[in-house]
Amino acid sequence: MTRTFVAPPRYLQGVGTLDDVGTHVSRLGGRALVVTDEVVADVVGESVTRSLSDAGVDYRVVTFGGECTRDEISRLTDVAQNGAVDVVVGVGGGKVVDVAKGVRSRIGGRLVTLPTIASTDAPTSGLSVVYTDDGSLAGGIVHDERPDLVLVDTAVVAAAPVRWFVSGIGDALATRFEARATRESGGWTFAGGSPSQAGVALAERCYDVLRAHGPAAVDAVRDGTVTDDVEETVEAIVLLSGLGFENGGLAAAHAVHDGIVSVGVTGPTHGEMVCFGLLTQLVLEGRSDEEIRDVARFASDIGLPVTLADIGVSPDRLGAVAEATCRDETSIDNQPGDPTPDAVTDALRTVDELGRSLE
Ligand SMILES: [Zn+2]
Repeated sequence: MTRTFVAPPRYLQGVGTLDDVGTHVSRLGGRALVVTDEVVADVVGESVTRSLSDAGVDYRVVTFGGECTRDEISRLTDVAQNGAVDVVVGVGGGKVVDVAKGVRSRIGGRLVTLPTIASTDAPTSGLSVVYTDDGSLAGGIVHDERPDLVLVDTAVVAAAPVRWFVSGIGDALATRFEARATRESGGWTFAGGSPSQAGVALAERCYDVLRAHGPAAVDAVRDGTVTDDVEETVEAIVLLSGLGFENGGLAAAHAVHDGIVSVGVTGPTHGEMVCFGLLTQLVLEGRSDEEIRDVARFASDIGLPVTLADIGVSPDRLGAVAEATCRDETSIDNQPGDPTPDAVTDALRTVDELGRSLE
């Protein structure tokens, strides 16, 4: 298979970068459609629109309906096509960003992602996770292009509730292990080929940064401050993990996430479920008790769920979660050893026992 590597051409991160969004957008186009939600609009909307006005960018703001569905992408595409738009700017969480990607794919032009929470690695990738109207997972759309600019204001993401930040670490923690699994199994990536060394190297670096800086960063975010640990961790969550997963591949951790979502569990965040999936993956890989405990302890210490009760899955749903984890549409096929639903059920149980023993 062909090795590939894809990435956005530009990534900017720092305190106050939001104030310059107009200047950056104006280099890409003069007519912007800003996609956001009401909460985000209250928090940063004025800064964004003021900056666009100051830079001479003609803009319209459209409010996202709350779920990234194909209908919502169509609705916002119609809005965009009702006026000339050459840049789509997605301002908000992962779902807003994913919808903005979908709109840009349909109308062409340029795309800027401006995450207001560091909860996933969605902002850098060319993937939109799509849901049905009732909130169940409908699959992913892989777009031909990546965002032209990813702009992260560290002060904004650090001011969001700390649970989002911790969830971002949970999502990014799995990237290294999933890239390793994909490489080992000869699997595929969203970049459209087999994992490149570059992708795997970024995934490795992501993990090392999270282990070195993550806990101190969580403490700082809890205190409402932006430190070097926060900057390092935000870059790991958004950039290193984003490039690492797209060019390194997803495996059992995200498949377990999909399995949990499919049984109607909606309480945990994406990153919380992925982290539980990561622990499950480590069990499936036959890792030593010591290694799994080490990752579980790290996760638990920063507030990520490590038991079935924590993620809201009752023991009688384990079989259903495992069946859904092993469906063709998930990334389980990148996991070496072709895990069966029975093996996944056992692994989920093992993680729960281990997680409860930490408490
Ligand atoms: Zn993820």
